[in-house]
Amino acid sequence: MAISVGGPRVLLRRLREVMAEPESAQKRLEKVAVSIAANMVAEVCSIYLVRPGLQLELFATEGLNPSSVHKTILNVGEGLVGHIAAEAETLNLPDAQSHPAFAYRPETGEEAYSSFLGVPILRLGRTLGVLVVQNRTQRTYSEEEVEALQITAMVLAEMIIAEGMAATDEGDEPKLGLVSSIHLKATSLAKGIAIGHAVFHEPRVNVEKLIADDTSVEQQRLDAAIISLREAVEKMMHDSDIVRGGEHRDILEVYRMYAYDRGWVRKIEEAISTGLTAEAAVERVQNDTLARLLRQPDPYLRDRLHDFDDLTNRLLRILAGRPATASAEDLPEDAIIFARNMGPADLLDYDRDRVRGLVLEEGGATSHVAIVARALGLPMIGRAENVLQLVDSADPIIVDGDLGELYVRPSRDIEASYAEKLKFIARREAQYAKLRDKHAITLDKHRIQLYMNAGLLVDIDHLDESGADGIGLFRTEFQFMIASKFPRLDEQAAVYRSVLDAAKMRRVVFRSLDIGGDKVISYMNQAEEENPALGWRAIRMSLDRPALLRSQLRALLRAGGGEELDLMFPMVSETDEVIRARELVEKEILFLTRHGYELPSSIKIGVMLEVPSLIWQISALAKHVDFISVGSNDLLQFLFASDRASPRLTGRYDTLSPAFLKILHQIVVECHVHEIPLSLCGEMAGNPIEAMALIGIGFRNISMSASSIGPVKDMVLSLDASALEQELMPRLDDSSKSLRPDLEAFALRYEIPL
Ligand code: PEP
Ligand code: MG
Repeated sequence: MAISVGGPRVLLRRLREVMAEPESAQKRLEKVAVSIAANMVAEVCSIYLVRPGLQLELFATEGLNPSSVHKTILNVGEGLVGHIAAEAETLNLPDAQSHPAFAYRPETGEEAYSSFLGVPILRLGRTLGVLVVQNRTQRTYSEEEVEALQITAMVLAEMIIAEGMAATDEGDEPKLGLVSSIHLKATSLAKGIAIGHAVFHEPRVNVEKLIADDTSVEQQRLDAAIISLREAVEKMMHDSDIVRGGEHRDILEVYRMYAYDRGWVRKIEEAISTGLTAEAAVERVQNDTLARLLRQPDPYLRDRLHDFDDLTNRLLRILAGRPATASAEDLPEDAIIFARNMGPADLLDYDRDRVRGLVLEEGGATSHVAIVARALGLPMIGRAENVLQLVDSADPIIVDGDLGELYVRPSRDIEASYAEKLKFIARREAQYAKLRDKHAITLDKHRIQLYMNAGLLVDIDHLDESGADGIGLFRTEFQFMIASKFPRLDEQAAVYRSVLDAAKMRRVVFRSLDIGGDKVISYMNQAEEENPALGWRAIRMSLDRPALLRSQLRALLRAGGGEELDLMFPMVSETDEVIRARELVEKEILFLTRHGYELPSSIKIGVMLEVPSLIWQISALAKHVDFISVGSNDLLQFLFASDRASPRLTGRYDTLSPAFLKILHQIVVECHVHEIPLSLCGEMAGNPIEAMALIGIGFRNISMSASSIGPVKDMVLSLDASALEQELMPRLDDSSKSLRPDLEAFALRYEIPL
């Protein structure tokens, strides 16, 4: 084949002209084929596009029999073209017909052509189609020609997307990352169903201008952007705020490695020299790498691809002068936010009326962003592997927070069935709303106190809506976690006062600051520890550096003037810690009395039982506390030596294991003997089946997220607690992993809604 006429730059210019012509997409595609053939001095140029059902259809050709257009259809994987689509790789063959994958299609008349160069048409790692040039003579195409065709395919990809010609319908499984509907299993982090459209928390940039006016200008833009990117990575490495966003140091190390990778930068520079804009060149290198790495079986390498993708997107945003996160104007009415990971503050920054759901590639059930999502009633799933590569901005999305499933670009059937489900949920919510003013009393007349957990002012609206008996756990650290600096004493007092006002005499249990472990305050210097969950945290920190706790106690005592104030301390491991914390409360009472403040009418002091050592100190605690609340999230973590924040361990040990229930029952018995009011405020209280088990072993007071009050109350109203107790208690010595199936069977037998 002759040397290409004018090279890729001329071709790109010609494509730009074709794309601007006021004609139908089909016509333009035909013109593109003619231009490519002419520019590359090829006798044939054909464009195949992926259709629903994983098929490739010949859409335009110069050189093959024109009557085969829209008639020649190949399955992905079939023939050379199908092979290129399946593997997302280029084929450069001097004698195509001798290749084992060659499939002869008589209608095309392609038997006359020997040499074959085919490249995938890729966008963000997905195959949209295949672009082929052919020549009669046997030859191997040069590297420059391959490069030129790949760049042309990239421009074509943009055109295909812009024209809406990409396949979007049906398709069963997420095969090959093709443009089709995808169904993904992940982990449920907040229940509920959301239907909406994808928004990237750190949005991808849509590269609009692909062809450069002046490549030297593009080169300078790239140089400047690379400098900014490196600076940004260095800043992230030193900025403690990143911890809040869940971006860990090792990820940043990988970012840094890529940012300084000469090979990567050189590839982008080469792409610019062929006539692309800096953005298009970055995207081209990104496409190539993604397509290659997406098919890597090694999960470690796939994870690295992930970091690379993140970094490339950052570079694209720098080039495009875009902000780091999705801005309010970009948010549709029904946004489903996608992120690798996210801090609670990031989620709160969004306009709540526009956000319907949240999908994270990482994230665990007790991570704070999940807690905030539950507080906001946002369906959320986590551990959705590689999701950021499989989703495009504005894609239609369904988040099934109940099953932990995700549908990307769902088929019409799926969408209709979920829309129906949403209607059903709305009817059920209306039923729960009817229970709002009813007390939660079991069939055998046990009154169960159902409290709600809160931590933000946004939660407080739910108190009336849900019909909770009060707030059983107010996580005061949330205000600190979402602030950018320490909230002043009067700011803290204002929040506590608003909570008490909203509670209208219902009981509110404020928990003092529980910082450390997974609860990080970005503006506070914390020494790095080997095992932060077991480290210098919560009450330990408060007792060693009492100024912070004292100011918080002062704010609480002031806010509670004239009312009952319930205070509890987190992560207590020994009785002495409560004694010392009480002394601090006494000091503050003295201080406020001296300064003429009105004190609360009564002050009750409790502890959270979340460190196992405390189980054997309940009798000792009896003299020093007015109540105990079990923190089952941490108690499970410490009893089973199982990090609650580790996504790998989520769900590994069941709260309904005989061992855990037996320990909880022992706590009930001990507290009963020592007449200490007892409650439980971990996440398990909010699942009807787990709440049922808790009632079966003797709990009468539980605290949960507001959205759980209705379903749990519904369960309580049809539960015979004595019947359950009789069945459950003898099972606490079972050797099974979990009593969940047995409890489900019980509920089915007694027609208890779970
Ligand atoms: C717990 O540990 O169960 C608990 C309620 O506290 P947190 O989740 O805030 O640690
Ligand atoms: Mg805890």
